[in-house]
Amino acid sequence: MSLKVAVVTGANKGIGFAIVRGLCKRFDGAVYLTSRDEKRGRDAVAALENEGLHPKYHQLDITDPQSLKAFHDYIKEKYGHIDILVNNAAIYLENNATEPVAVKAEETLRVNYFSVLSTCEILFPLLRNGARVVNISSSYGHLSFIPSEKLRQKFQDPNLTVSELSDLMNQYIAAAKQGTQSKEWGNSPYAVSKVGLTALTKIHQRLLNDRDIKVNAVYPGYVNTDMSSHMGPLSIDEGAQAPLFLALDAPDSVKGEYVWFDKRIVSW
Ligand code: NDP
Repeated sequence: MSLKVAVVTGANKGIGFAIVRGLCKRFDGAVYLTSRDEKRGRDAVAALENEGLHPKYHQLDITDPQSLKAFHDYIKEKYGHIDILVNNAAIYLENNATEPVAVKAEETLRVNYFSVLSTCEILFPLLRNGARVVNISSSYGHLSFIPSEKLRQKFQDPNLTVSELSDLMNQYIAAAKQGTQSKEWGNSPYAVSKVGLTALTKIHQRLLNDRDIKVNAVYPGYVNTDMSSHMGPLSIDEGAQAPLFLALDAPDSVKGEYVWFDKRIVSW
């Protein structure tokens, strides 16, 4: 069989970096550390090379269609396929009190939901049978963060389509712009973005069910990274454990699930 390929987005630091480190140690194939900023990415590759590991590098800004296309074309030309895709890149703007909620809502969903969706749409045609997709969600990706019962039912609808889910995400942005979002959607744009990602995971698994491809969402735990303002108790390598489990070790029966950092499947 031709060389296997693993790809991690937003991997120049934090949990994504540790996922690349773990894959380099255990995955028999090419491991791509990708980053939006080439210098930060190449510095991260050099740090892993100092540990005797050999990740490969490619630039990838998930919000930039040209960057996504260039990465797709590069992988297609060089290998023709992807075996592991870890959608890790994300932003968290809630520590920044200066921006209005509408701005945070639009930007957070643009990166954490719509750009992950674009990444999947562009890269999924390269997934080959046996592939695993791991979406790094959050404890905030639990449906209980959405106050409205009616909305929770919509998210859970087993027939929900990607376009209906994207409509829901846009409805949230519209509500945030009018300042009417709190009652139904709660007060965290990050939570809405990660609920959207968890819902997307389940839809994508359904769409790929006729192929041997697993798509799961995972809460990596509360991890000591820039995103958590270094408040999380887990190290980045501990935060990488559950994502690595889903990428490499989980039984084939684990698909379309929402998994906790201790590898438990959690009811959504
Ligand atoms: P960090 O902020 O440390 O790392 C985030 C990474 O995403 C950085 O490499 C960042 O790049 C990258 N990134 C941001 N925007 C883009 C983009 N447009 N294109 C490509 N890369 C991008 O966060 P964590 O390591 O903590 O977070 C990793 C994942 O884990 C996220 O999905 C997060 O939501 C999730 N998570 C984290 C938790 C925690 O406790 N830390 C808890 C629950 C979930 P750059 O350096 O250029 O900004």
